[in-house]
Amino acid sequence: MKLDMHLHSNYSTDGKAAPRQILKEARKLGLDGLCITDHNTLKGNAEVRKIAAEFGIIVLRGMEITSTDGHILAIGIGEEVPRDLSAEETLENIRAQGGMAVIPHPYRNWSGLGWECVRKIKPDAIEVLNSHSTKRENAMAGKLCWEMGLPMTAGSDSHELESIGRAYISIPDATDEDGVLKAIRSGEAKARGRSRNLIGTLKDRTLTVTQWMGRGFKKM
Ligand SMILES: [Zn+2]
Ligand SMILES: [Zn+2]
Repeated sequence: MKLDMHLHSNYSTDGKAAPRQILKEARKLGLDGLCITDHNTLKGNAEVRKIAAEFGIIVLRGMEITSTDGHILAIGIGEEVPRDLSAEETLENIRAQGGMAVIPHPYRNWSGLGWECVRKIKPDAIEVLNSHSTKRENAMAGKLCWEMGLPMTAGSDSHELESIGRAYISIPDATDEDGVLKAIRSGEAKARGRSRNLIGTLKDRTLTVTQWMGRGFKKM
């Protein structure tokens, strides 16, 4: 089974894809599941889950939280985790809900947690392949994950339809969120897909800075 574990809908302020479009595209690409991880909200995720059965796609509950140390993915949670808590407090909140705390793009400027923080807080898994990260950043994330002996995940981090599924995990068959989380926790998930290329890198950098200025220099 293939699942894109990190992507954004238009409920993220910087996201463009609507729930129905995302599911249509995912089915076209042959994805079996996905986790909508909008920035600091569960609303888009809930909208996608409402209609997921029509498309035969498993949609896991999740969001991407802005902690004061950087971005953290929460998978399998029912309540929104507040932004701007420390990484440690964010993890406590996720685990109190029985969710899984995953560190996305640990080596990204601005929003990555960085290896020191990741080692200190000991998350449940590390995202070792993000299609918006460079090859080098992903390789470093993979090394950190391996050194810490943690399970891996992967996702496109797509904010628009075009890049959905560019990175994903493959796992043995699962029928629901619980099954997928068990497969990840037991280390059965393998990261597949690709990193971003040079043109994507330049475009992303310009976009990030423009968006940041547009938000009045407030971090996403
Ligand atoms: Zn992020
Ligand atoms: Zn993201």
